[in-house]
Amino acid sequence: MHITGKTRIVGVIGHPIDHSLSPPMHNGEFERLGLDYVYTCWDVDPAQVEPAMKGLKALGVLGYNVTIPHKQAVMPLLDSISDEAELVGAVNTVHHAPDGTTRGYNTDVTGWIDDIEQDISLKGKAVCMIGAGGAARAVSTGACLSGASRLTFWDMREDAAQVVAERLKARFPNTEIVVLKADAAERRDAVAAADVLVNTTPIGMHSAPGIPIPADWLKKSLYLYDVIYAPARTELAQAAAAAGCQTRNGLGMLARQGARAFEIWTGTRPDASRMEAILKTILKV
Ligand code: NAP
Repeated sequence: MHITGKTRIVGVIGHPIDHSLSPPMHNGEFERLGLDYVYTCWDVDPAQVEPAMKGLKALGVLGYNVTIPHKQAVMPLLDSISDEAELVGAVNTVHHAPDGTTRGYNTDVTGWIDDIEQDISLKGKAVCMIGAGGAARAVSTGACLSGASRLTFWDMREDAAQVVAERLKARFPNTEIVVLKADAAERRDAVAAADVLVNTTPIGMHSAPGIPIPADWLKKSLYLYDVIYAPARTELAQAAAAAGCQTRNGLGMLARQGARAFEIWTGTRPDASRMEAILKTILKV
């Protein structure tokens, strides 16, 4: 990489941020396309979000990703927010637009849609989702925007699931949105009635091994999307594959949320598959 006086800067703010996979993913694609941009990381203390945002703008940074714990904190500090980000209640991408305004987006939503719709259209589908945290807010918004007929989900914290449901119900009257209580039979029936099952919990990661539902709830006609990407195949995904289900992990969502941000900043559509390949090499999955 050759940095010049004309090199445009993008990056990510978070705290901590040293784990981020985004720099090699973006920089690899900038280099391949011959674009004079560089992507870096800024560790921003939660008390410093506003001055950091003002500083990035003053320094002419073109835009940046926003990750935990700042995805909500940046929202009131932006001039405008995309429809998706408003629905999710979180911003993961900021763009300093040519007109001088600062706009927030949530590319996790479109990243997930772009990834899953390589396999299956969500229009008219019954989607069942496990969990109602950050990833679930993007997935549920994506399912509704893509025309899912029914969205059923639950979380360890029922109040969190209700908040997600209420936000979407007002906007998507054509999608039946149902939050399930801690009733195993109801949950089993929801999985049985679903076309698409999405795991949005951390259960199955190396740090949280296990399976979020009993393996015998899975049936061949179900499509499984697991937002986890390390390991590449969680215990749930292995059980689903053994039951004959088509499955996909979350690596493509990670690459495609990045690809959307790349396009917002540069106006150039990157090759999301190549960005995914970079992630695979780094993660050895
Ligand atoms: P989060 O905000 O903590 O949400 C996870 C939610 O799942 C929490 O509300 C949690 O409840 C709930 N939960 C945990 N175990 C459960 C269970 N057995 N049944 C039902 N609900 C359960 O975490 P997140 O940021 O959404 O991340 C979740 C996973 O998604 C992580 O593995 C993360 O790496 C992955 N992710 C992937 C992408 C991607 O691009 N592929 C993007 C974002 C996140 P409690 O808090 O009570 O435990």
